[in-house]
Amino acid sequence: MKTSCVSCKSDKAMTRFHDQTHSVEYDGIRMAVKGLAGWRCGQCGEVVFDAPSAQRYAAVGDELVLRARKKQSRELRRIRHKLHLTQAQAARLTGGGHNAFSRYERGQAVPLPATTNLFKLLDRHPDLIKELA
Ligand SMILES: [Zn+2]
Repeated sequence: MKTSCVSCKSDKAMTRFHDQTHSVEYDGIRMAVKGLAGWRCGQCGEVVFDAPSAQRYAAVGDELVLRARKKQSRELRRIRHKLHLTQAQAARLTGGGHNAFSRYERGQAVPLPATTNLFKLLDRHPDLIKELA
């Protein structure tokens, strides 16, 4: 099989690899995916996985995204409780609709970075909530 590189378009032969371990990293968590197969560009190093390997690699990435969302949901709930806010009060504070926090904390919606950043600041400086009330 002769394939040109999808990244650099080099027509140098892609070289076959088998049974390699590649890592996926998301939000500071890294996971190794073993036994991957595919092709590597000799020019730029681009890797193209075979379909089954690509599926396994993507599934690990999806799992890491879900874990990060759960972690973020738990953090938002923890900080909201620390600030003695109801979900409705937290939603009024940050916008996003009256049930936004319910959705964030159940992992059904992803808050804007402005919301998570505000809560991180309020976690470190909870007295500042008085300035916003
Ligand atoms: Zn290439």
